[in-house]
Amino acid sequence: MAKIFCVANQKGGVGKTTTCVNLAAALHRAGQRVLLIDLDPQGNATMGSGIDKRGLQHSVYHVLVGLVDLAGARVNSPTGGYDVLPANRDLAGAEVELVNLEQREKRLRNALAAFDADYDFVLIDCPPSLSMLTLNGLCCANGVIIPMQCEYYALEGLSDLVNTIKKVHANLNRELKIIGLLRVMFDPRMTLQQQVSAQLEAHFGDKVFRAIVPRNVRLAEAPSHGIPGVVYDKAAKGAQAYMAFAHEMIERAKTF
Ligand code: ADP
Ligand code: MG
Repeated sequence: MAKIFCVANQKGGVGKTTTCVNLAAALHRAGQRVLLIDLDPQGNATMGSGIDKRGLQHSVYHVLVGLVDLAGARVNSPTGGYDVLPANRDLAGAEVELVNLEQREKRLRNALAAFDADYDFVLIDCPPSLSMLTLNGLCCANGVIIPMQCEYYALEGLSDLVNTIKKVHANLNRELKIIGLLRVMFDPRMTLQQQVSAQLEAHFGDKVFRAIVPRNVRLAEAPSHGIPGVVYDKAAKGAQAYMAFAHEMIERAKTF
């Protein structure tokens, strides 16, 4: 059975897409069967996987509104090796359309059900909002991975996300839990970042992943080539951190 994880944080630019793409590629390199679902109309995870979002015949939008099934829309990433359910601007309209559809929060869950046996991991790249799209992601996930920067304000937004996750858990998806907080864009030379990192560990204990992703220019360059960072420069510190994170996820997934 596939383990399904949402990468979520309602803030933009915190490393959701970078985490999704690199975790997908790292898990594939580690021999896992992976599907990455791009739930953001910006289509950054799609492009970062080497798939042109402008040339898509079908996308996650068509799956959500029931025009095609997953098999009719998924594409294999030519650079990362994993499968992608891609997204583009079409998805921006889905929000409104979904409101009028049956089981609007469970469209993605229902669409995935028949393909459960095809994958070990399904990773969902959520948009920077707590919208109907994010809700669809949370409704089908076993758990949430929250990437965050070790900044002074990092914890503020967290409570909104935690409350949403609690509500989804109570009303829509009893399986949902927070798997962990992933420290990203980490700069060990900054005293403040070290302090916040230590606070996170003190506060959240083993909900904080051991792997720490450093700020690394190779990770930032890779998307412009349509190549996941862990493939673009395997030796870079950022790539190695995401490989370590993938192995940590494989270990944690066994305990489910
Ligand atoms: P989100 O999906 O949450 O909006 P992104 O993953 O797109 O965030 O990251 C925002 C920006 O930060 C992007 O330009 C990305 O390349 C860059 N970035 C993300 N993680 C790192 C990192 N570890 N080191 C350097 N740059 C990073
Ligand atoms: Mg993103």
